[in-house]
Amino acid sequence: DPLIIAIDGPSGTGKSSVSKTVATRLGISYLDTGAMYRALAWSCVASAIDLDDSAAVSAHAQTFDLRMGMDPAAPSVGVGDRRIDREIREDAVTSVVSRVATNLDVRANMKQRQRDLIAEGCAATGGCVAEGRDITTVVAPDAAVRILMTASEDARMQRRSRQLRVATEATRSQIVDRDRTDSTVSQFTTAADGVVTIDTSDIDFAQSVDAVLHVVKE
Ligand code: C5P
Repeated sequence: DPLIIAIDGPSGTGKSSVSKTVATRLGISYLDTGAMYRALAWSCVASAIDLDDSAAVSAHAQTFDLRMGMDPAAPSVGVGDRRIDREIREDAVTSVVSRVATNLDVRANMKQRQRDLIAEGCAATGGCVAEGRDITTVVAPDAAVRILMTASEDARMQRRSRQLRVATEATRSQIVDRDRTDSTVSQFTTAADGVVTIDTSDIDFAQSVDAVLHVVKE
């Protein structure tokens, strides 16, 4: 059986870097589902689609040529031949991504794309670490390993500010707003049945990786 590891949680828990490292250690594929929603938001903006026009946004989600590279040592995101790895991390995308991600037609399309990509990753390497907000509950509820990474608000803000090199208070309101919007469509603040919670507030990166690998071995 292919090894599917589903990891959910809000930003600032170390989820992405931990997921990438776990996939590298296990020699399996890696899927960043947040990057897919970010790519859609970027593509809508690039195509001058009004983000308030939910029919136009969902039509674009059905047809845009999203290309995800799932090598954990060098994950990549593209639309058509255009690589957008840097662009999707910019504030212009981060500040609008929740607006496309709360569109339920968009979510249905993304779920199918994500299931296909996980299957493709498993076929290529024997397994896949998929991370996001609804992987343990919606995209891959049957995954062999399901983990929710959490951390105190203070710990998350500190990690986030370090990554973005901006003031903690500005980051806090941006993250709190995004979590509030995201949590209207995904359940990622408490663990669903059978999902193992790892609280990273007081553990470092290496310990977080070990904690995930420990759950995998069980
Ligand atoms: O994890 P990241 O911050 O890159 O996610 C960006 C956005 O993508 C989230 O704020 C959320 O709106 C959306 N998302 C989602 N479901 C997922 C992963 C991300 O709605 N599984």
